[in-house]
Amino acid sequence: MNNQPFQTPIEYLKGVGVARAEVLKKELAIYTFEDLLRHFPFKYIDRTRFYKVKDIQPEMPYVQVLARLVSKEIMGEKHTKRLIALAKDDTGIIELAWFQGIKWAEKLLVPGKVYVIFGKPGFFNGKLQMSHPELELYNPAAIKQKGNLSLQPAYNSTEKLKQFTLDSKGLQKLIAILLEQTARDIHENLPAYLLNRFKLVGRAEAYRNIHFPNDANQLKEAQYRLKFEELFFLQLKLLRRKQQHTQKFKGNVFGSVGNYFNEFYHQKLPFPLTNAQKRVLKEIRTDTQRGVQMNRLLQGDVGSGKTVVALMSMLIAIDNGFQACIMAPTEILANQHYQTISELVGDGFVKVALLTGSVPNKARKIIHEGLEDGSLQILIGTHALIEDKVRYKNLGMVVIDEQHRFGVEQRAKLWRKNVIPPHVLVMTATPIPRTLAMTLYGDLDVSVIDELPAGRKPIQTLHFHEAQRLRMFGAMKQEIAKGRQIYVVYPLIQESEKLDLKNLEEGIEVMSREFPLPDYRISIVHGKMKAADKEFEMQRFIKGQTQIMVATTVIEVGVNVPNASVMIIENAERFGLSQLHQLRGRVGRGAEQSFCILMSKDKLSNDGRIRLNTMVKTNNGFEIAEIDMQLRGPGNIEGTAQSGMLDLKVADLAADQEVLQQARNCVIEIFEKDPQLAAPENQILHLAFQSKNAGLSWDKIS
Ligand code: ADP
Ligand code: MG
Repeated sequence: MNNQPFQTPIEYLKGVGVARAEVLKKELAIYTFEDLLRHFPFKYIDRTRFYKVKDIQPEMPYVQVLARLVSKEIMGEKHTKRLIALAKDDTGIIELAWFQGIKWAEKLLVPGKVYVIFGKPGFFNGKLQMSHPELELYNPAAIKQKGNLSLQPAYNSTEKLKQFTLDSKGLQKLIAILLEQTARDIHENLPAYLLNRFKLVGRAEAYRNIHFPNDANQLKEAQYRLKFEELFFLQLKLLRRKQQHTQKFKGNVFGSVGNYFNEFYHQKLPFPLTNAQKRVLKEIRTDTQRGVQMNRLLQGDVGSGKTVVALMSMLIAIDNGFQACIMAPTEILANQHYQTISELVGDGFVKVALLTGSVPNKARKIIHEGLEDGSLQILIGTHALIEDKVRYKNLGMVVIDEQHRFGVEQRAKLWRKNVIPPHVLVMTATPIPRTLAMTLYGDLDVSVIDELPAGRKPIQTLHFHEAQRLRMFGAMKQEIAKGRQIYVVYPLIQESEKLDLKNLEEGIEVMSREFPLPDYRISIVHGKMKAADKEFEMQRFIKGQTQIMVATTVIEVGVNVPNASVMIIENAERFGLSQLHQLRGRVGRGAEQSFCILMSKDKLSNDGRIRLNTMVKTNNGFEIAEIDMQLRGPGNIEGTAQSGMLDLKVADLAADQEVLQQARNCVIEIFEKDPQLAAPENQILHLAFQSKNAGLSWDKIS
C-alpha cells in the first residue's frame, strides 16, 4: 500500500508554490497533500434547482429562488434599522431582510425585476424570511452558459488566504487538481465484506464525491462512507487498546463475597439499594472475579448514590484480603467521602483513614505505616494518595471520583501501586451522552445509575423574568420562614469579569436590602476572597447561622447542605446547561421539596431559551447532557475539552450516533470472531495498524 504521495509537502502541488504554501500552513494547517484532501467543504450550495416559495421551509439549508421584486422599504431607527423587501413567484411571497449594507442593497433592488435569490431561509415573527441573500438579476442565457448546476462545495477560508486568491473557489481549484493527480493512490482500507454489508462506496470515490458531488445522494453516500471509516478506525483502536490491556494486565481475583460485605449489606445499610445500584454492583462483581483488571466508568447523576456502590465494591476487595482507596479531586470532596463512609460503616468495622495535603506529618506517618502493614483497609484522599512514598501492602481496588479532573496518566500511576494492578472504578457525576462515553471512554466498560433513590422529591424548576422578582423574594421569605436555606448564584466568567463582579456586588446590595438584619443573615462567597474568609462564610452557612448564601459558581462542587432547599441562579441564560444542572444538584438533598429558580432577562437567544426550557422540563442529567451536546457540539461538553479523541473530521458525535453505534458493534463483532485480525479478509485492517503515518491515515485520530 503506497500512500506516500499524500505526504508530499503542499508546495509541490501544481498551482501552489512557496508563498501560497506558507499561508496554507499558517492559516489552515495544511502542510501536505493529505491535509488538503481532508480539508472538507463546510457546506454545499445547492444550485441544482429553483425552489418554489411555497415549498421553502425555514429549516432548509441554502436555497435558490426565482422571484420578482414587489417592494422595498427601509424601516426602524438606528440599530433596529433594516431593509425589508418582498419578492413573489407564482406560489407565494417571501420576505428579504438586510440589517447591514442597507444602502448598498437598497440601490441594487429594482421593483418589478426578476432576481435569482440565494440564501438561507429562516423564520422571523411568524413569517418566512431570508436575511442577507445573494441577489443576481435573472439572465437565462448566463445561467445556461455557466452550466454549473451541481452542489458547489464551500470551503473555510480566511482574509489572509483570500489575498492569495485562496478563497473558497481558489481552494476548490486546488483540490480538483489534487484529486485528479492522486485519484489512483487512494486505496481502500475497509474489508470488502464491510463495504457490502453497509453498502459503503469505495474510498477513492468517497473522497471525490465529498468534494464534488453531482447530487445530494452522492454526497450522502460519500459522507456516510467517510464517517463510518473514521468512527470504525477510532473504535478499532480503542477496543484494541482495551483488548491488549486485558491481555497484558492480569487482575486480582475477588473470588468470594464475605463477612464485610454481608454484614454491611444486612446490618448497616440504612436503605434498600435501587435496582440501578444493584445492577452496577453485579457488573463490578462479575468484573472482579474474571482474573482481568477491571476498568469501569460509573456514571450517575448527582444524588444517585454512587458512594455506597463504591463503598460496597471496596468491601468486596477487603473480603478478599485487599486494601482499597478513593481518590477525590479536592480536599472538600475527600473530606465529604470520609465523613459519609465513616458514618455508613460505623465504629470498629473497617479501618478507614483520610489522607490529604493538610494532614500533619505525624498523622501521615501513621497512615503510611498502616498502609504498608495492611492494617489500614480503606484510604480516602486527594492525589496525595498516589504520591510515590505512599505504599500499600496489597491494594486491590481503586475508586476515582470525578474522572475528568484526572488524566489517563494518573490512572496508570495507581495501577503501578500493586504487582497485579488494582481494579479501577472511575465515578463521574457529569453525565455525558452515550456516544461520547463510547468514544472518550471507549476503552473502559461503562456502568450507569439511571435511577434516583425512591421517595426523593424531584426538584421543581421555575423560570422567572425580571418582572417576577418580587414574586421570587416572596417565595424566598416563605422558605426561610419554614427554616430552609437558600443559595443565590451569580455568573463569574473570565471574559467579562469586571461586569460580572458588578453584577455580583449589585446583587449583594439588593439582597441585603430585601433581607435586612437582624431577621436575615447572608453569607457571601466568591472566588476573589481569601481562602480563610471563604471557608468562614461557608461554615456559617453550613452551620445554619446564615439563611442565604450569595455566591459565584465556586459553590458548584463539594458543598453539601441538606437544609438548603432553594437554588436561585441569576442571569441563568449565561450558564451552560451542564453547569446549570450541576448547580441545581446542590439542592434536593434533604427530605423537603426543593426549588430551583432561573432568573433571566426577557429577551433570550434561541440557545438560551432551549437551555432554560430544558432545565424546567427535566431533572435527568443524561437527557440534559444530550441536549447540551446538540447545542454546543461534543468538543465543548464539560470534561471533554481538549480531548484529541474528539477531533473528528467528518463524523459528528452529536449527529452521527447511529453510525457510531454501527461502527462500534461492528468492531466488537470482528474482535470476537478474529481477535488477532489474522483472517485473510481482515488483513487489510491489520495493515491499517501497521501503516502508521503512511498517508491518508486514520491514525491521526489519537
Ligand atoms: P452521588 O451519586 O451524588 O455521589 P451519594 O452517594 O452522595 O450520591 O448519595 C446521595 C444520598 O443518597 C446520600 O445521602 C446517600 O446516603 C443516599 N442514598 C444512596 N443510595 C440510596 C438508596 N438506595 N436509597 C436511599 N438513599 C440513598
Ligand atoms: Mg458523590
